[in-house]
Amino acid sequence: MILRAGEAPDAHEARLAPYANTVATSRGRRYAEPAPRDRSDYQRDRDRIIHCSAFRRLEYKTQVFLNHEGDLFRTRLTHSLEVAQIARSIARALRLNEDLTEAIALAHDLGHTPFGHAGQDALNACMRTRAPQDPRPRSADEEGAAGSMPDGGGFEHNLQSLRVVDKLEERYAAFDGLNLTFETREGILKHCSRRHAARLGEVAARFLHGGQPGLEAQVANLADEIAYNNHDIDDGLRSGLLQLDQIEAIDFFGGHLHAVRAAYPGLATKRLVAETIRRMISTLIADLVAQTQANIEAAGVQGLADVRASAPLVGFSAPVREQLTRLQQFLRLALYRHPQVLRSTTKAARVLRELFNAYADEPRLLPSDHQRPKDMGQLRAIADYIAGMTDRYAIREHRKLFSVQDW
Ligand code: MG
Repeated sequence: MILRAGEAPDAHEARLAPYANTVATSRGRRYAEPAPRDRSDYQRDRDRIIHCSAFRRLEYKTQVFLNHEGDLFRTRLTHSLEVAQIARSIARALRLNEDLTEAIALAHDLGHTPFGHAGQDALNACMRTRAPQDPRPRSADEEGAAGSMPDGGGFEHNLQSLRVVDKLEERYAAFDGLNLTFETREGILKHCSRRHAARLGEVAARFLHGGQPGLEAQVANLADEIAYNNHDIDDGLRSGLLQLDQIEAIDFFGGHLHAVRAAYPGLATKRLVAETIRRMISTLIADLVAQTQANIEAAGVQGLADVRASAPLVGFSAPVREQLTRLQQFLRLALYRHPQVLRSTTKAARVLRELFNAYADEPRLLPSDHQRPKDMGQLRAIADYIAGMTDRYAIREHRKLFSVQDW
């Protein structure tokens, strides 16, 4: 509970559904702070996320196309902004807490490595190979946050996002991290292995005991899916790796495309694609809102406790989910596994692997604030350092360490 006694909830929260999260029902922050004066606690979370350095670094991190491959492709930053926009629209329609939803959406990818999923897979493999097990027992002090992490346990980007906001950001005099509310932190932790959940305490309890996070977190999660499916089509077509006739054969895209063509015959391709994608996003949002409302009603949800105890309530209707799945299968084969994308991601994975091994073999190559006394979490510190790099910073560091031409 953050609100001071006798204080009215803010106007936004007063009109929310009974199953929305509010500051009045919040489980609060890890370190107690006075309530903010002119904004809600969830707005403060959002503001802290926007001001943190991990957020700015998203500008130069890969979504699908490497940052240097073109200026118009999505980056992690523009992706996160699109997710936040979609998530807010849905939250408002469902009378959920828009500020909390936005905070979760903006923070959801803060822990991503450079070079997208290829980078994260490479870093995970490095950590698993070099540190298969946790070498030392944890003290009681270290439990309950993503702050202290053993070397073992690989690398998970969701967990890393939580670690960024709980520990790695160094901006506040009184605490490590951003000291966000429980609800924002829980929403950021979309997936988590049982092994890590056991160590993290309350914020990860649902991964051990079942149960769902609040609807705001569920909305942010599906807004992510709406955003990337649509913008990856857009970027895929723009890059020339996808062809229009190829994707026209996929029902969900084809149906919307034909409707636009019928309404606007002779429309130039650029606008045809943009209008089709715009309509697809609208269809997905409208379907999600309607189906979620129906789910909430059918489950007889009265409040937050019911949300946590129910199966996931935010979701698409069965026919739309099926169409979306087919679209995703298409994108996986035609775009994410396109030889040109694979060539880039293979190269990117090699860069991260070689950086990791060089630092692990000789930690004195690291900047001094990333060096640790022997066996005291040096590998985790390397993973944090590499995960925090932008694409171009990683490429530059790799060149400095390995290039003979630039010697
Ligand atoms: Mg994302």
